[in-house]
Amino acid sequence: MAALPRNILILMSRTGGGHLASARALEAEFLRQDPQARVTIVDLLTDHISFPFSRLPRTYDTLVNRAPRLWQAMWKVTARRAVGGSSSALVRYMSQSKLERLIRDCKPDLVVSVHPLVNDLMIPVLARLAPATRYVTVVTDLGGIHPLWLHPGNAAIYLPTAKAVAVALARGLPQHRLHTHGLPIRAEFALAPPARADARLSFGLDPALPVVLVMGGGGGIGPIEAIVEAMAAALATTGGRATAQIAVITAKNDRLRARLAGRSWPVLVVPLGFVDRMSDLMHASDLLVTKAGPGSIAEASVRGLPMLIYGFIPGQEAANVDHVVEAGAGLFEPDPKALAGQAAALLGSDGQRLAGMAAKARGLGRDQATRDIVASILADLPKA
Ligand code: UDP
Repeated sequence: MAALPRNILILMSRTGGGHLASARALEAEFLRQDPQARVTIVDLLTDHISFPFSRLPRTYDTLVNRAPRLWQAMWKVTARRAVGGSSSALVRYMSQSKLERLIRDCKPDLVVSVHPLVNDLMIPVLARLAPATRYVTVVTDLGGIHPLWLHPGNAAIYLPTAKAVAVALARGLPQHRLHTHGLPIRAEFALAPPARADARLSFGLDPALPVVLVMGGGGGIGPIEAIVEAMAAALATTGGRATAQIAVITAKNDRLRARLAGRSWPVLVVPLGFVDRMSDLMHASDLLVTKAGPGSIAEASVRGLPMLIYGFIPGQEAANVDHVVEAGAGLFEPDPKALAGQAAALLGSDGQRLAGMAAKARGLGRDQATRDIVASILADLPKA
């Protein structure tokens, strides 16, 4: 009798864009390595826990943008084992029947978590309903590894860096359950990109001018408009040709996109909404101006794109700044005018400094991370 296809359940949530991007990258790679498999991605926090907890993903962008100190306090307080554990226990208790229904309906052979808040909710439920099902976590934060990622019920934990492994060891996780292959990013990043001029043209950019790419993660978080204003002023030259052009990812913020498109600028400014072809766009660019999102940093590293970081979400993203700056792959500057000055200086010089940073960024890149993580997860499963 032919073996049944493997049933793989990926648990994520749309708090920011990184968890979904990693979930999709893993899904595609599972299907590439095991074409018979059935892969289901669910937003556990939005669709499988009870109200009002299910509203967290919807309010996350506002929370981290408008009340960063509250978010930081929540992050820190829940990092205490007693608080994190009992908060999760409350949500799990209130959501019990929904969580159980998901497992009964999906009947997974493997559960893969790409979100820190889902582990304490699902691992105890799975241990009761389907104890033979393997549960693994793929950590999608680079630096600030919240303890909720590191549930001891994980059969394996995939961490992006050696520093993150040290955090997990310090929390008492056994070495043999920890793996480090990098942060899972989309397959396109492992492929050869198109010619740079073609990539620029495909986004409505001038094929011959350097590109500064401004983005704030999947939510368009941060003072994007102020940054574009300062950047455009700094990159314009009086009378002569502009030194560079600006591509802006406004993500889901349609109003910002319309506002940017409606203004006249001293250099070419191309507002882009949500972009699917991030690999090509990063290849088209010479400098990334970004918040310290782990996904964006991992992708830019693979593309050898130097980074100017203007901010970070307190808690999980603070250590990402050090990850980039200590490697020499980028600089941190929160003030838009000073940031624009840095960009103009980097692009206006002979290019050696920028090339040096690009090489350092490439040194951080792990273009085969997704492939290696999936191969390792599948190798530990019984044969299908
Ligand atoms: N992203 C994308 N298209 C966009 C904006 C963002 O595909 O228009 C992706 C980006 O490439 C990255 C993720 O969304 O993979 C953002 O993740 P990150 O960890 O940088 O920040 P988050 O949004 O999770 O705070």
